[in-house]
Amino acid sequence: MASKSQHNAPKVKSPNGKAGSQGQWGRAWEVDWFSLASIIFLLLFAPFIVYYFIMACDQYSCSLTAPALDIATGHASLADIWAKTPPVTAKAAQLYALWVSFQVLLYSWLPDFCHRFLPGYVGGVQEGAITPAGVVNKYEVNGLQAWLITHILWFVNAYLLSWFSPTIIFDNWIPLLWCANILGYAVSTFAMIKGYLFPTSAEGCKFTGNFFYNYMMGIEFNPRIGKWFDFKLFFNGRPGIVAWTLINLSFAAKQQELYGHVTNSMILVNVLQAIYVLDFFWNETWYLKTIDICHDHFGWYLGWGDCVWLPYLYTLQGLYLVYHPVQLSTPNALGILLLGLVGYYIFRMTNHQKDLFRRTDGRCLIWGKKPKAIECSYTSADGLKHHSKLLVSGFWGVARHFNYTGDLMGSLAYCLACGGGHLLPYFYIIYMTILLTHRCLRDEHRCANKYGRDWERYTAAVPYRLLPGIF
Ligand code: NDP
Repeated sequence: MASKSQHNAPKVKSPNGKAGSQGQWGRAWEVDWFSLASIIFLLLFAPFIVYYFIMACDQYSCSLTAPALDIATGHASLADIWAKTPPVTAKAAQLYALWVSFQVLLYSWLPDFCHRFLPGYVGGVQEGAITPAGVVNKYEVNGLQAWLITHILWFVNAYLLSWFSPTIIFDNWIPLLWCANILGYAVSTFAMIKGYLFPTSAEGCKFTGNFFYNYMMGIEFNPRIGKWFDFKLFFNGRPGIVAWTLINLSFAAKQQELYGHVTNSMILVNVLQAIYVLDFFWNETWYLKTIDICHDHFGWYLGWGDCVWLPYLYTLQGLYLVYHPVQLSTPNALGILLLGLVGYYIFRMTNHQKDLFRRTDGRCLIWGKKPKAIECSYTSADGLKHHSKLLVSGFWGVARHFNYTGDLMGSLAYCLACGGGHLLPYFYIIYMTILLTHRCLRDEHRCANKYGRDWERYTAAVPYRLLPGIF
């Protein structure tokens, strides 16, 4: 099987035109017209989509239809809206530069000490998954430490020393958007040039021959500067995600300033999203084995997405609640809390079961029993045959991506906390449903290529993707 799979491996062109054989997973080799059209659409419109949402809150109290209607009916022109949009300011540029530099410093210069005193936390130098080129990268896992230090400094400076107001992020939200865009485009462009001129690992590069696809989905698999500065881990896991909870805190502080109190909906959004963010950092080592790190190349999709899309659109609920301070009835608040916590439990336990199963090579208990698995094999680009197992017990026997289902339940809870007044806070659940369904299909396509017949045996054993009996 090994030699057959290797023989069938697709050929890719390197920048010098030579065809080379790549591994059987990773991102696409060939770009169909639909992917190309979607990519060009996203490259052109994603920054405007983000701008539209943030501007709609700033100028139209978070109504998504009002700006479009105003333009359509001639009550406002694009120039009017643009004229009311705050420009980039020196203060925002300084804040943003300080923020990113501080996160770079924490990431690159402060080896993890949390794993020394937090029982059960896995940090410090850890190994990622085997790459398509057959390499195992090492990572300095210190995200929890960066999150803790940043948040302690935030509270000390904003509340004890009063060096800045806790509303500082909200107050500079649009000027900061321009800074985030500059960084997002700069890092994606740099990653593209680096992929051509000085890649960290030439074996990990993929060139489709299509400029837009290469720019969007990335060329290098694991671009690094020096031994430790890993672009994917830093941009995926630091400036945006560390900021996520600070942004929400700043929105809560703004509510307090404007209305004299913080609503229970704002507390719910802050708490549920903080659980999600803290879970990410507590499990950063596990995160090294997820699709973003194991399969995606680093391009605009990750670079710009992590700098702009994530901090601006994942925090829309908190922003909305500044303009619409929803106070939920106690039963509604409790119901939403329960939905969020059950979703989180499913998300975490599903991920945990796979991690435990893979780490112990199946020598563990899942739901009190020895787990059942399907033995499978695949071939890496260097021609070596590897063995693996697909879990069919626990949540992985319920559906093939039940972790996504839990994630979607949690996402719905954030949105429901904002009540039913507007569509804008529901963008998150709509987006996550599209993202995770697409991701599920992408992942299954890759797994089918990687494992062949073994994957078919798995899909026969676990026939549904997200919801048993439905999809
Ligand atoms: P998964 O953690 O589900 O990983 C998928 C991989 O797991 C597959 O490629 C395969 O990799 C392996 N696998 C698949 N089925 C099995 C099985 N039955 N037994 C063992 N291994 C299996 O996907 P993601 O990396 O996408 O997601 C991780 C988490 O992150 C999810 O909970 C998701 O909800 C969340 N997420 C959140 C996002 C957000 O923006 N909020 C975005 C993306 C993800 P292999 O090649 O090793 O076999």
